[in-house]
Amino acid sequence: MKDTEFDVNKNNGLTKKELEKLLNVWQDRLRMSDWNISISIVNFGRKDYKQSGDFEADVLAKKAKILLTAKPFRGDEEYTLVHELLHILLYDYDKFSEEVLLDRFDVDSKQHDKYMEKLEETVHHLTEILLSRGCNH
Ligand SMILES: [Zn+2]
Repeated sequence: MKDTEFDVNKNNGLTKKELEKLLNVWQDRLRMSDWNISISIVNFGRKDYKQSGDFEADVLAKKAKILLTAKPFRGDEEYTLVHELLHILLYDYDKFSEEVLLDRFDVDSKQHDKYMEKLEETVHHLTEILLSRGCNH
């Protein structure tokens, strides 16, 4: 990953402090208070689509970093934050399943694409429920 990290607070949307407060609230709600999670504001610099978030996680150490775009958010920051938190929560399971799948299929196989699609659908669905929004995509 080659993202540029900004040291300054972003100047639109929530401040880094507000984001960190929101992170604490959601870590608590998701029973993830034993995780050491930090937020980084980055420039994803992707031309193919607008990425609003990503994460890095070390399951054994229970340490993770949530990456949020410095650019104006397309949706909203709370959605992205909860979405990435759920990815972290599911990461152990996700990694295991993906490895098993990659024993048989290529990373650019249809099966792997389908796996990623299903993972994103699940994370999206759960995020909508947690944010008490209807799920009508
Ligand atoms: Zn996702």
